Amino acid sequence: MPPASALELRPATIDTKPVLRQLLELCQHDYSQFNGADISQHGHFGYDYLDNYWTEPGRFAFIVHYRQQIAGFALVRRLEQHADGAAHHAMAEFFILRKYRRQGLGSMVAQALFARFPGTWIVGQEPHNQPAQRFWRAVIAHYTSGQYQEHMTADGPRQEFQSPPEPSKPSAAYAGTDFYCDQVLSGRTAVVTVHETAGVLAFQHTRPHWPVHIVVIPKQHIASLLDISSDTTLLQELLAVVQQVAAEVVANHGGCHVVTNLGTYQDSKHLHWHIGAGEPLRS
Ligand SMILES: [Zn+2]
Repeated sequence: MPPASALELRPATIDTKPVLRQLLELCQHDYSQFNGADISQHGHFGYDYLDNYWTEPGRFAFIVHYRQQIAGFALVRRLEQHADGAAHHAMAEFFILRKYRRQGLGSMVAQALFARFPGTWIVGQEPHNQPAQRFWRAVIAHYTSGQYQEHMTADGPRQEFQSPPEPSKPSAAYAGTDFYCDQVLSGRTAVVTVHETAGVLAFQHTRPHWPVHIVVIPKQHIASLLDISSDTTLLQELLAVVQQVAAEVVANHGGCHVVTNLGTYQDSKHLHWHIGAGEPLRS
């Protein structure tokens, strides 16, 4: 994930309201692919509720800055009168600029917002917006260690959970030797996918050692780099994904390391590469 120090959630002010208005246009252009919205004769999608963020209580607007650059925005609502009578928070809008996607920034922003507003959260996605559904399911599964409920409504899926999450049960800790087959490829542990090909998966590390930490694995079981034949197309496919992810990390963060461990250095006995950047998060 990107370094937390480089990320800022700045509450929108009256001075930055025009920035938010412009970001909402970009956001709605993305949504239009899924909801079929048309642009007005003036060339705007428009957003009916922007003023409400300055006039109504329980509405919170943030502009996401990453390394001093604008990287997105989020609109959060506190709804006192939910259908079941209980107050909860909702993500009214959430948008990360394209160049900042698929690096864990969106996940980090979402989790920072969950933490900032404790209590019940309900996050929803439009019925046809599959990328958003995949993103939120993975982020919420990660944040809550899988302790969330999903309900299907006429307006699309809704995930409900508590923030801060319940401490994960000890049984959730994985003690085996092939985390990738047993947890990731089986779907038991949800991950945020970065890249995927027919035979290869690249995803955000679930317990990152560096601020940027992506893992690349073959989807079939191969014990280690020493156990894959060097003349297979799978090795080419794996290295092509490693190369592509590494190039993106270098482009966005200036550098990275690419590591595969062997023998006693290798904890999980399934071939994997770590692609990392930034100062270690823990020793
Ligand atoms: Zn395996």
